[in-house]
Amino acid sequence: MSYYFFVSGEELQQEVVFLKDKNRQHLKSLRLAEGDLIVLSDGEGKACTARIVSIDPRAAEAKIIGELETETEPPLSVNLFVAIPKADKMERIVRHAVELGVNKIYPVISDRTIVRIPKGKGREKSERWQRIALSAAAQCRRSYIPAVSEPLHFAQMLPVLEGEELIIIPYEEEKEQFIRPLLDGFKGRPASVAVFTGPEGGISPLEMEKLKEIPGAYPVSLGNRILRAETAPLAVLSILMFRWGDLGNKRGCCHHCL
Ligand code: SAH
Repeated sequence: MSYYFFVSGEELQQEVVFLKDKNRQHLKSLRLAEGDLIVLSDGEGKACTARIVSIDPRAAEAKIIGELETETEPPLSVNLFVAIPKADKMERIVRHAVELGVNKIYPVISDRTIVRIPKGKGREKSERWQRIALSAAAQCRRSYIPAVSEPLHFAQMLPVLEGEELIIIPYEEEKEQFIRPLLDGFKGRPASVAVFTGPEGGISPLEMEKLKEIPGAYPVSLGNRILRAETAPLAVLSILMFRWGDLGNKRGCCHHCL
């Protein structure tokens, strides 16, 4: 089993890479030693195997051996638009969504969002979530670090959603259209899917009206139980990765997982 470290794209071009600061600390906490093999990734999909050649208190030196074909990136791109829930739940969503193979996360401030993000604090929040995405990516050995955008207001989200091919909107009031028959009705596999889930208070009727106007948007029920705001996005992501991605199956084994 090799451990993952993220370095810059430029560093990955070199023969020798220096692991400093956080990477150096991480290396120490893993008790890695000279001679051990590790994986270096640029977070953009490229990864290389490398051997630790020296470790000193400030930096460790790793020599690149060769490029590594990683198979940890799913063949389906899912962009999650999540109304920010209370407390540290967004952190958990980020961590687990990265494990499940999300492409990008957009924290959203909707009508019924309870948390208040003071002006100018949005960037700070997203930087924190971005750091969590990085550590989750390293932990699950992804070669791509999903981006977490700065929080956007519901109205700012709409034009972004308009560029998406298929938009799944789990809606607690939807009683007719369920997610499984909806996905089963699609021929082939979309390259990309967007998902928007509401906060603890749910999606407001006015918001739902606006969402329904977007071509390719489908309100769906996930079933009769009401899931928590932090459960719903992860449940949908799991369903999509199971149906069209690489969760629970070998890559390239059937027409679903090309
Ligand atoms: N306050 C609402 C529940 C909100 S749950 C109520 O009590 O009715 C938070 C979000 O999770 C919802 O806005 C929706 O996007 C999603 N969600 C939870 N359970 C769902 C279900 N059974 N079907 C569809 N969406 C669901």
